[in-house]
Amino acid sequence: MSEEKSLNFIEEIIEEHLKEGKYQSILTRFPPEPNGYLHIGHAKSICLNFGLGIKYNGKTNLRFDDTNPVTEDTEYVDSIKEDIQWLGFNWANEFYASDYFDKLYEFAVTLIKKGLAYVDDSTSEEIAAQKGSPTQPGTRNIYAERTIEENLQLFEEMKAGKYTDGEKVLRAKIDMTDPNMHMRDPIIYRIKHAHHHRTEDKWCIYPMYDFAHGQSDSIENITHSICTLEFIPHRPLYDWCIEKLEIFPSRQYEFARLNLTYTVMSKRKLLQLVNEEHVTGWDDPRMPTISGMRRRGYAAASIRDFCDRIGIAKRDNLIDVSLLEFCVREHLNKVAYRRMVVFDPLKITITNYPESKELLPSENNPEDITSGNREMPFSKEILIERDDFMENPPKKYFRLAPGQMVRLKSAYIIKCEEVVKDAEGNITGAKCTYIPKSKSGSDTSGISVKGTLHWVNAADAVEIEVREYDRLFKVENPGVEEGDFKDYINANSLKIVKGFAEPSILSATTKDRFQFLRKGYYCLDKDSTAEKFIFNRTVTLKDAWAKEVKKG
Ligand code: ATP
Ligand code: MG
Repeated sequence: MSEEKSLNFIEEIIEEHLKEGKYQSILTRFPPEPNGYLHIGHAKSICLNFGLGIKYNGKTNLRFDDTNPVTEDTEYVDSIKEDIQWLGFNWANEFYASDYFDKLYEFAVTLIKKGLAYVDDSTSEEIAAQKGSPTQPGTRNIYAERTIEENLQLFEEMKAGKYTDGEKVLRAKIDMTDPNMHMRDPIIYRIKHAHHHRTEDKWCIYPMYDFAHGQSDSIENITHSICTLEFIPHRPLYDWCIEKLEIFPSRQYEFARLNLTYTVMSKRKLLQLVNEEHVTGWDDPRMPTISGMRRRGYAAASIRDFCDRIGIAKRDNLIDVSLLEFCVREHLNKVAYRRMVVFDPLKITITNYPESKELLPSENNPEDITSGNREMPFSKEILIERDDFMENPPKKYFRLAPGQMVRLKSAYIIKCEEVVKDAEGNITGAKCTYIPKSKSGSDTSGISVKGTLHWVNAADAVEIEVREYDRLFKVENPGVEEGDFKDYINANSLKIVKGFAEPSILSATTKDRFQFLRKGYYCLDKDSTAEKFIFNRTVTLKDAWAKEVKKG
């Protein structure tokens, strides 16, 4: 885009900070919890955080928010790194919140020493009951009266493994009457005897999110800590911890999370789809994960373009998945090689064509003059799409029908002379004649036809498997519908069909992008073998759903 884009609200804040000299340079971070694969919502956050780092000559850290030992795994760590790099971004540092466990423990001790934290023996039910409600203040229990010495000793014993899970917690001593429930003496450490993917069995107490996140930001000197809107009520606690601990003043800014139509985007739900085998894995091409989209053939550039187009909002909204598909199409149109594939073949015999075969050049991509040609074998027996032929066509039917002419793409004009039927009267083919002077590129026939068909030479057609994907959910917003979101799964989200491709397809690799003429965009799937080529339909040529809606 050539025209100057207006700044989003976070850019405005940053430019102000840089102008007034509050910071010399900015430092952002992307803080995934390694408990699942990244999805398109994360891509939004990645593009924002890394994009700001690049735009303002700052830096961006990758920090794994790994304070919950039970759900985290190194498989997820590896996939997250792969996906961020694939999206085109590089982190300044790779950090782990678990690297800060010693430091965070010290911070907790500091709070205790300041009389700002206490060990509570209450059960989680008791703590919940004493918390009050948004309209009713909470009440403090007797444990809040413990002395600093007692708290120091108990907290150390918690760390030493003297107590069982849930037996005690450490709470910040703030205000049980604060209208913000997060400020009512929040739990900041809990006991969890669990193996951690990095610290292994060193710890049996783990900091809560609110005691780890802001402090981790501060330890790294993050200037702008960007998160989604649901963290607005956490901000006072974020600021409180930094203020009381007198550490680097990182600041939190919130933007609206990305929600997409016909998609669920919580890792918990995506994990269910994987575990219950509604999809084949995290990288199933129907999944809204980065790895699923990559396998489906989406380009990183399309995802970045999409994230850029939707902008940064301050209010939650639902973005139409068609916009993402539009970005995917727009990019593929520029880079995809054109290929001819017939899905439901009808045999055409060209009666006046010699027994020999010729090779006809056809452009790889008319949008890219540097892409060159490939050669299409042509002979007297070719395949066309069954639905490009009609025995008794209506008016204004420009495809093949008895007595009518069409152009075969990159080849000749043919005329249908006769329908061929079997004993039951089913159409099995058509006999045509061709016009030798009408060869594409050197056409001197003077004939102009309205229809151009794709085709493949019958003797050279390569049988392929094509996986046609549709939306994984039948309703616009499956995450908010009544009942279980899985009740809204589209049972027809995968259709496997056969195709007959031109022989140049044999050199396809998973890196190549194709447009099958008049059909859509496709890429080779990793499930392919030397014997069997499997293609994913990345996206159709047009938005079929928009048409459905218009038809009513
Ligand atoms: P989920 O709800 O899908 O499990 P999460 O917020 O728990 O997501 P994290 O790994 O904690 O997942 O997220 C890492 C970063 O990505 C956070 O800063 C989070 O705010 C951001 N993020 C997650 N989902 C979205 C989304 N849908 N839109 C924008 N940013 C998101
Ligand atoms: Mg989270």
